[in-house]
Amino acid sequence: MTTMIAARVHKQNEPMRLDRIPIPTPRSTDVLVEVKACGIVPNLARVIANTFSSQQSGTRLLPPLPAIFGLDPTGIITRVGDQVRSVRPGNRVYVNPARKCGSCRMCRSGHPLDCPSFTFQGYFGRSQEIMKAYPYGGLCQFITAPEDALVKLPDSVSYETAARFGYLGTAYAAMKTLGVGPGQTFLVNGISGMLGLNAVMLALAMGATMILGIGRNRMLLDRVKALSPKRIEVYAVDESTPIGPDDPFVLWARSMTEGYGVDSSLDCLPPGASSTAFMRPLFALRRGGRAATVGGVREVVPLNAFWLMTNRIGLQGSVWFTTGDGEDMAAMVAAGTLDVSPLEHRVFPLTQVNDAMAALNDRNGGFTNFIVDPTRAG
Ligand SMILES: [Zn+2]
Repeated sequence: MTTMIAARVHKQNEPMRLDRIPIPTPRSTDVLVEVKACGIVPNLARVIANTFSSQQSGTRLLPPLPAIFGLDPTGIITRVGDQVRSVRPGNRVYVNPARKCGSCRMCRSGHPLDCPSFTFQGYFGRSQEIMKAYPYGGLCQFITAPEDALVKLPDSVSYETAARFGYLGTAYAAMKTLGVGPGQTFLVNGISGMLGLNAVMLALAMGATMILGIGRNRMLLDRVKALSPKRIEVYAVDESTPIGPDDPFVLWARSMTEGYGVDSSLDCLPPGASSTAFMRPLFALRRGGRAATVGGVREVVPLNAFWLMTNRIGLQGSVWFTTGDGEDMAAMVAAGTLDVSPLEHRVFPLTQVNDAMAALNDRNGGFTNFIVDPTRAG
């Protein structure tokens, strides 16, 4: 077999086309992975529509067309380059799509997520050179990937579960910096969404004592609380819910935390959410509390620096996760400490990739896990 089926975007805002193209040959330090499952995310349509680069004039963020997208591939290694040492054909893997240059000051000092050329294989990024070197997203049958991007999957971790590692890992890396763990209270903004639900699952695994969540959909909030009724408390808001230090939501959060406020919060709101919605959890932080965002709020946030200073509040952004973080998650799932059973896998064959994209709007919040399985290419 020398060719494969790939779903490719030929033109922005047009459906993907199924093309027959050559199966790539891995370079010396790369592997060839037969894709068994690729997670697809609601943001993919926005990325293909190039809504991100419109804000960065002069910066071309999308891979050259025709392009194969697909951010979260999992599969089985079928070939390895002659310099590959740690994996072999037959290993089951998640492919961390995070690519870095490997030689800048940040890469040299062990901070690949801070590489100025940081690029997602099969998605978008800052380096056209890297996108050309790794042009295979997960929406095709075979992809090449560098050895250092591979998370080996224990047999008990399914391909469908690992195809969710993008969201899980994004939350996990941010939560590690927040110190989420035993004795800590943790608040998730957008708790029932794709990112927010994964943050809850991780917080339970990481030992957070109390997990508070903000959301809109009462039914989904109740489902989230049911995951661990003693440790999870939820609060329904809408745009009319006021924000500020003495508003009902903040009083509620304080009442759940012996009057202190929460130790940390994670913003998981999607693009399109308001700056007001982003601000809300900040006021629920205790003095010295820390907030991180992995969400997509684009509005300018009117922060009072004096309030930030006097309350010793920390606020930071976080993007993606390292391959080592991915290994942590695979080990936690295999050990049973990270319970991923709430995820409902919805699997589409590659031939129905456009239907899968359309179906993303019809989901049970973060509970639905959208998967494309290229082994069913037909
Ligand atoms: Zn670099």
